[in-house]
Amino acid sequence: PVTKLPKIGTTIFTVMSQLAAKHGAVNLGQGFPDFPVPERLVAALESAMRAGHNQYAMMTGVPALRQAIADKTADCYGWRPDVDSEITVTSGASEAIFDAIHAVVHAGEEVIVLDPCYDCYEPAIDLAGARAVHVSLDPVTFAPDWEKVRAAITPKTRMLMINSPHNPSGAMFSAADMQAVADLLRGTDIYLLSDEVYEHIVFDGVRHESALYYPELRERAFVISSFGKTYHCTGWKVGYCIAPPALSAEFRKVHQYNTFCTFTPAQFAFAEMIVAEPDHYRELGAFYQAKRDRFRAQLEGTKLKPLPVPGGYFQLVDYSDVSDLDDLEFSRWLTTEHGVAGIPLSPFYAQPSAGQRLLRLCFAKSDTTLNQAIDRLSKL
Ligand code: PMP
Ligand code: GLN
Repeated sequence: PVTKLPKIGTTIFTVMSQLAAKHGAVNLGQGFPDFPVPERLVAALESAMRAGHNQYAMMTGVPALRQAIADKTADCYGWRPDVDSEITVTSGASEAIFDAIHAVVHAGEEVIVLDPCYDCYEPAIDLAGARAVHVSLDPVTFAPDWEKVRAAITPKTRMLMINSPHNPSGAMFSAADMQAVADLLRGTDIYLLSDEVYEHIVFDGVRHESALYYPELRERAFVISSFGKTYHCTGWKVGYCIAPPALSAEFRKVHQYNTFCTFTPAQFAFAEMIVAEPDHYRELGAFYQAKRDRFRAQLEGTKLKPLPVPGGYFQLVDYSDVSDLDDLEFSRWLTTEHGVAGIPLSPFYAQPSAGQRLLRLCFAKSDTTLNQAIDRLSKL
């Protein structure tokens, strides 16, 4: 058949989750918490349904939720987006990423992505008839080389996509990186898509460098986040996009014909949760830092070498002391033979580096799950 994404298969997250289930492996692959969502959120969801909030929400999002997002943004980044013209609630960050690309990127144009990058970026670019231009991050530190990015800019470049804290590495952009982005984009008509879904999962007192801190970036940016990460409910699929009024207007043209609106009861629940328990997002970094530290200490007793994790909920490990298999083979072997599933890094690259021996392990898990995984990993 004549199709549009002939080279795309099933995502690595689905593949590894299915393999983990088949072999009864501890699943540290696909990124999702295995502990409960906050009790208030569940109660608020139920109340919203019982109160009759079960029909289409406003296309842009339930007003109370947009208000709560504006307040939370002001609380975190010292700048308040306009509730009506700059915030759009979406069905997860995935929908927001798709909408932003389709709102502004034309067929034949180019979008710069930094490899390794999250797997939904390139297919969305392809479907717009545009081309993803891949610039590699440093293979060890996952830091960007802004001169390489500058060299990749052409008259066709319409968008630069960035992601900090970064999936899969956990690396974070510094203030100098954000300044470099501003310098690169100044005087161009290139838009910025800043994927900030792990914005609250940052460690060691280091500040998350949101694009929203920088007026020069804000005026050309789609800043995207996800309640799935912040409130331990990846399956609820609610996210949002903050963009200047003119960009939000274009974004909404895609959103309104893509999903039109997002699951109404959850929007009421998040609105209540954000206002009633601001400490949840303020303390999320400390919550995950404890998990990270415990997991890393446990990994010391294995042959896997942990890389630094400044943010996010993934731990990269170097497995070269265990095996010389490539990462796709190694992750399969580890799942089937040792009962622990992780995610190989090569699917995050256009051109994976041949010698890389890294596996991504998700530590958004209960101590019991992590203990069980470590028990198995220590036998390698
Ligand atoms: N971007 C990144 C970097 C992610 O890790 C994820 C979730 N895995 C998403 C976007 C998509 O988020 P959502 O589940 O809200 O669609
Ligand atoms: N974002 C999740 C991860 O990186 C996966 C989401 C998905 O399965 N599409 O693990």
